[in-house]
Parts: sequence; C-alpha cells; structure tokens
Amino acid sequence: MIDTAVSHARANYDQYLEQFLAYLRIPSVSALPEHKADVRAAAEWLAADMQRIGLENVQLLEMNNGNPVVYGDWLHAGPDAHTVLLYGHYDVQPADPLALWQSPPFEPTIRDGKVFARGASDNKGQMFSQLKALESCLMGDGRLPVNVKICFDGEEEMGSPNMPAFVAAYKDLLAADSVLVSDGAMVHSEQPVIDYALRGVVAAEIHVSGPQRDLHSGSYGGSVHNPVQALAELIASLHDEFGWVQIPGFYDRVFSLSTAERDLLRSVPYSQEQWELETGAPAPWGEPDYTLLERMTARPTLEVNGIWGGFQGKGDKTIIPAEAGAKISMRLVTNQDADEIAELFTAHVLNSMPETVRVSVQVGAGANAAVTPFDSMEIAAAVRAYSLAWGAEPVRSRAGGSLPIIATFQQELGIPFVLMPFGLDDNRHSPNEHYHLSHFSRGIETAVHYYHYLAEIRH
Ligand SMILES: [Zn+2]
Repeated sequence: MIDTAVSHARANYDQYLEQFLAYLRIPSVSALPEHKADVRAAAEWLAADMQRIGLENVQLLEMNNGNPVVYGDWLHAGPDAHTVLLYGHYDVQPADPLALWQSPPFEPTIRDGKVFARGASDNKGQMFSQLKALESCLMGDGRLPVNVKICFDGEEEMGSPNMPAFVAAYKDLLAADSVLVSDGAMVHSEQPVIDYALRGVVAAEIHVSGPQRDLHSGSYGGSVHNPVQALAELIASLHDEFGWVQIPGFYDRVFSLSTAERDLLRSVPYSQEQWELETGAPAPWGEPDYTLLERMTARPTLEVNGIWGGFQGKGDKTIIPAEAGAKISMRLVTNQDADEIAELFTAHVLNSMPETVRVSVQVGAGANAAVTPFDSMEIAAAVRAYSLAWGAEPVRSRAGGSLPIIATFQQELGIPFVLMPFGLDDNRHSPNEHYHLSHFSRGIETAVHYYHYLAEIRH
C-alpha cells in the first residue's frame, strides 16, 4: 500500500540520508584510472545495500573488463504484473577544478538544505531516491507493487562504451515492460517535467589541407586555394538562409509533428524571454515554421562546434595556411538513422570539396533518437505520481539532448521509457554539485507512488 510505504520512508528518512552520505564519500570517478578501485567499491557498496533491502539475484556483471553493472531484481508481484527496468549510474564526473569547491567533493556537506558533493545529483542522489523508494515498499510493505529489475551502470560518465554490448548480451535477463530513469533536471523546484523524447547525435571532424606547408601569401596568394577559405565555403553551404541543412537526404526520414503534439508542446511554459535569458544571444535563428522549443527539441540540427586553421597569434603573419579543420555535430530526431546520416554527411563533404584542396572526414560513434508515446500508461502513471507526491503536475516535453542508453534499450528491448528527473541544474559536472534534501525525499515518495499507480493502471 502507498501509505505504509510512504510512512516507512518518512520514519527512516534520517537513516536514508546517512546512507546517502556514505555512498557519496566513495570517489567513483570512472574517467580516471587511479579511481578504478573506488568505482568497484561503489558497485560493491550498492550491491550490499540492494541485498540488505531484499532485492534478489544481486550481482556484479562485467563486459569487456569495464566497470561492473550492478544487477538485482524482485519478481514476485505476480505473473501478469508490470516489470520495470530501473536504470541509473553510480560513477561520477571528475571533481576538478578542486579549488572552486566550497567543501571537498568527496566529503558531503549539508548547507542551506542541500547536500554538496560530486555525484550528489548526477546521478547518485537521483538513483538513490529510486532505490530508497524500493526499500520503503519492501521493508514497509513486504513487497513491491510491480516487478523490478535494476541495472546500475558504472561507465555512464565515459559514455557507457560497453552498454550496447551488455544489453545485447543480457537481453533476456533485462527483459521488461518499461524502462525508468531518474536523471537530469526539472524546470524548477515546483515544476517537474517528463521528457518523452530525446534527440540522437552524430559528431564528425573535417580536415582540409592544401599546400605542403604554410606559404608566403605575397608569393603564392591568388594561385592556391586557401584551406581555411575552402573550409569556410563548405561550412557556409551546409545551411540555407532558413536554417535548413543542405545535406542531400538529411530530412528524408524525419517525422512530422502531429497537431496533437504541437498543441502539447505549446502548453510547455517556455517563452522567448526565457530563451534570451538562458542564451544571451541577440535574436533567435532557425527554421521559421517552428517554435523555439520545436527547433530545440523536435527538429534535426547541424552545428559547427569548433573551427581552426592558420595564424592565431598577435600581429600579422601573411601566410596561406597548409591546413584547416572543424568539428561538426548533428542532433537527430525520430526515424533518422545515425549511421545513415554519418554516411550522407561524409559523402556530401567529399563530393562538394573542389579538387584544389584535399579533405578527409572522421565520424565518431553516433546514437539514434528515442521517443516514447506521450500518452502511454507509464507516463500517465508518472504524471499522477508527481502530481500527488510532488504536489505539482509535470509538463510533458521533448528534450533536445541525447541519452544513448535509452535508444539502446529501445532498440534491444523494444519497450517504452519514463524519464523521471528529481534534480535541477544542481551544478552537475561542475564544482559545488548539490542535491536538494527536499528533492531527495520528494523523489522517494514520487517513485513509491509511481510503482503503485503503474500496478493500478495495469489492472
Ligand atoms: Zn553526468
């Protein structure tokens, strides 16, 4: 019952907080080899806690010598019960620059109703709210209203390089009816958000070269195609005046927004004033037929992330540079295929460069977009859970960013997802990362409500 689980959570809140602080003290920085043992210690700490609260089959699973996935389950809700796959990550970002922290990153400190520590919000705090919700049900009520499988990743902050292979290899073990992830940010403390779509991403690097060395522009200017100029010409040709990407085939598979969805997105409280405040840019740019929020979340994009070439020092140096380069990333939407877009991009760059320069393109591993129906029963349960436990009805929206693991789960398991963030900006990935204690406790209660409503809606 919701009531017994919620009162158990409230009665044990101080203990939950103590456990949370102990968890935060483990410096599980996955990017730094010197923390390899700490990452494992965090996995073992979690596994012990999961075992203690009555989860079963708790084990550390490894793939390609990476950091272990912590797995556990509880599958006694009944043969027709919904099975939730709960995903989170126990690794954290590096803490530097250390000098900017007001208290040491791995000595969690409470100030102004917030816990300050690396990982406090991303993702230890948010996933711990979820885990303590399970504890509140299991210890308070003796059972969970739904079946639950847990998959806690130790390499998310490195881009989860082994997760695609892991999910493919453990498809049967991970089989579930929906995925649940508590990560990311709400609009503000009193305005939760449920993102039902994420964009995909492809990143590429272009190298242009011409003469064998930097040349004297007085001697050779006018006779050599300057690589910086050739690259600038290419980049200028990638969009038209309306912001449309000019790569042939780029839009072929792009879905069109339904009227119902455009109405839903228009109900999201996001104004041009807000956009101006966030970006500081002088005026909006982009596809005129779409609102700012649609451009930022529901449309594919191509961005130049960086560009280099030639002399950058003080004063003059009259040369024709030997080479130039740029980094480009593209955000993809539903139905676009990351591999196909990578090929179209590469072919377009190679075909459009004149023979007066040499060009090469490198494309990194991409990720597809992910989308789940915004009127699914899982999202309906989440809306109800936030409304009652958080005290505010969440908006449903698209996110502009990418979470490749969600696309992986969708591809391999073919199931809907629910993103249930309990955080705010919280200085995630920055010094003085923190998590509001009120979000920690409200997160626990929201998750408790969610599991119960999910069971109710199902029957
Ligand atoms: Zn992160």
